Amino acid sequence: MGTRKKVQAFVRVRPTDDFAHEMIKYGEDNKSIDIHLKKDTRRGVVNNQQTDWSFKLDGVLHNASQDLVYETVAKDAVSQALDGYNGTIMCYGQTGAGKTYTMTGATENYKHRGILPRALQQVFRMIEERPTHAITVRVSYLEIYNENLFDLLSTLPYVGPSVTPMTIVENPQGIFIKGLSVHLTSQEEDAFSLLFEGETNRIIASHTMNKNSSRSHCIFTIYMEAHSRTLSDEKYITSKINLVDLAGSERLSKTGSEGRVLKEATYINKSLSFLEQAIIALGDQNRDHVPFRQSKLTHALKDSLGGNCNMVLVTNIYGEAAQLDETLSSLRFASRMKLVTTEPAINEKYDAERMVKNLEKELALLKQELAIHDSLSNRTLVNYDPMDEIQIAEINSQVRRYLEGTLDEIDIINLRQIQEVFNQFRVVLSQQEQEVESALRRKYTLIDKNDFAAISAVQKVGLMDIEGNLVGEPDGQSFGLGVAPFSVKPGKKPKTKKTPKDQFSSSARKEGASSPVSGKDFDVASISKTQLIPSSKDGDLKDMLARERETSSIEPLISDSPKEELRAPRPSTPPSRTVAFEEFKNERGSEINRIFKENKSILNERKKRASETTQRINAIKQEIDETKDALNFQKSLREKQGEYENKGLMIIDEEEFLLILKLKDLKKQYRNEYQELRDLRAEIQYCQRLVDQCRHRLLMEFDIWYNESFMIPEDVQVALKLGSSIRPGMVPISRIVCLGEDDQDRFSHLQQTVLPEGLDSITFYNAKVKTDQKVTLDIHVCEGGGPEDFVIRILRTTNSIR
Ligand code: ADP
Ligand code: MG
Repeated sequence: MGTRKKVQAFVRVRPTDDFAHEMIKYGEDNKSIDIHLKKDTRRGVVNNQQTDWSFKLDGVLHNASQDLVYETVAKDAVSQALDGYNGTIMCYGQTGAGKTYTMTGATENYKHRGILPRALQQVFRMIEERPTHAITVRVSYLEIYNENLFDLLSTLPYVGPSVTPMTIVENPQGIFIKGLSVHLTSQEEDAFSLLFEGETNRIIASHTMNKNSSRSHCIFTIYMEAHSRTLSDEKYITSKINLVDLAGSERLSKTGSEGRVLKEATYINKSLSFLEQAIIALGDQNRDHVPFRQSKLTHALKDSLGGNCNMVLVTNIYGEAAQLDETLSSLRFASRMKLVTTEPAINEKYDAERMVKNLEKELALLKQELAIHDSLSNRTLVNYDPMDEIQIAEINSQVRRYLEGTLDEIDIINLRQIQEVFNQFRVVLSQQEQEVESALRRKYTLIDKNDFAAISAVQKVGLMDIEGNLVGEPDGQSFGLGVAPFSVKPGKKPKTKKTPKDQFSSSARKEGASSPVSGKDFDVASISKTQLIPSSKDGDLKDMLARERETSSIEPLISDSPKEELRAPRPSTPPSRTVAFEEFKNERGSEINRIFKENKSILNERKKRASETTQRINAIKQEIDETKDALNFQKSLREKQGEYENKGLMIIDEEEFLLILKLKDLKKQYRNEYQELRDLRAEIQYCQRLVDQCRHRLLMEFDIWYNESFMIPEDVQVALKLGSSIRPGMVPISRIVCLGEDDQDRFSHLQQTVLPEGLDSITFYNAKVKTDQKVTLDIHVCEGGGPEDFVIRILRTTNSIR
């Protein structure tokens, strides 16, 4: 599947006594035709007319029997159709060149029967050869005449003429012709009768060149569906073969048609030229649109031209010199057709009914399996059915009690229950969110922080100062915490801002709160982007806001100071390093600490495995010794009793033989275990290195953090942070404190002068350096060749550190 395949193009030459030998020549491999045209002397002196052409094809059928034609052209495509590949075989050529002869053949002479009856025979023969499958065959026979669709099998008594005209319908399964009768045929003979019925019904137009030549396109389709006789097999395949006898391809001028026949001829040429356009589009890999809907012919064949089909074209030509013009144009069509590639694919489908049945069986089996499993593990009968409302309500109540703290744990029963517990957590959480918000709304008026007009109005009323801090509150409580100021003018000292040092209380630390927002204030802060205003002045305020919006055009108060990093406030005396380390592990160092812990647990696990393996090895060793002793004992016994020998081979008794086998087996086990131990030891060594590395990193980061948080005066920190990539904790305190403004200037000056492209290039080079560092570290880690999870972990470590 998935392999692209070219359309196969053959040429069949109609037998003649007057073959133009000097003009038509076949290649030696019989896969090309060269045409040589004599110069047209009537055209005068200046004559640039091309006189030689060469066409590459898949085969030239000259004086070929119907039998050989079928073998060459159709046999493979038909055989593949039974395997689920769609196929299309088309005959193209000027009227009288032998299309109908090739496709249908002589209906009165069995020997001269064409591709169609032979294809039906092959299909039924192959079905007989496949007793493992139930294969149904259906056929239809469509004629397209003057852009009208005709059912060539509608004359059958059980079909009856169609009331509405037939239409071409596209559905996901492919093209389907509404109103066209499709006939189930269970044997070859039935299929033949249908074919003959259709043949007699073909509309024959009289024509100057060939009385019996058809002026219409005829499409005989064989549909197949193969289901395995094994009922558990859900897959089945469908396919169809289109056998197309196209109308004459000759151009209008040649025929000299008039009146009705002229109209027919125009139509024929038009639909064939649309067919050609579609084929050119199919042959062009860069075109995604193929104009299938321009004519009934191309539309009806949409899913059978190119695409996932096997496609074969037979171009019928005359061998006479007089027809060379038409022959040339037919050969051009054939060579264009050869450019088209298709991607034949099996049409595999699933039998929904069989699938449901199989799944039901499987489900029943798994339930039994589960019941056995439950009873073996002494679990009381667990119900695995979907939960009803009462059970869900019970889980909801459990979750609520758990959240309140009245329930210590929620018992795990099965997967469905666990999923429902999580589900109910979400339900409860969102309900609580809503409750909090509506409670706030009842008490306060919430203002969007981006609504500057509203904020300015509030400031005017005096409810909020210029920094966005709320000033007045009826019950005297402050609730401004956690809301960032939205305007801090640079250089201007905040009026009421407390220093973080003052805010920090050791009790807050003990509670493990890492942000200044705690307890009751947390809910308030969670309503982000929203300012809170007491609702006592609600009415006045709303009026004010409305007025403000109408009259004023207030400049947005956009903060131009850099965004403050959220950090824990600092205590006045630094905490002890042990205490601080615990805190560090929960805060900034949490990721490294987690990785450290993970790596350590892997290391311990490997160590445990190594010690288990050692124990096993010792046990095996002991057993080996014991077996050896037993074997020696047996041997000495044998020696004492006198040895048997048969043709130079030692005869030993069964017991000894079994002991030898056992010893061999034990030695093998010993070797395996030993190998494992060796691998484990290497792994442990590697893991140990990683753990050490992680520990070192953790301590180093902690030192930096500790210095940063407690040892460096705040103003120095601020100075260092501006435009510098140095992290304060990395530099000895003495160096930092003496790094005055001059040093700072010199440093940035250095950065600018050393970097060739000046200030703009700093970010570029910084990024480059970081990438380089990352790459070297990654490579280093990968080269270590340790267990995969370790590699990933250390990569993550390096990422999170940076
Ligand atoms: P088309 O369908 O292309 O118009 P037909 O198949 O009707 O042409 O052929 C026209 C005539 O030539 C028919 O009488 C047919 O029997 C005869 N004919 C065509 N090809 C061959 C052939 N390969 N061998 C014998 N007779 C042929
Ligand atoms: Mg014909």
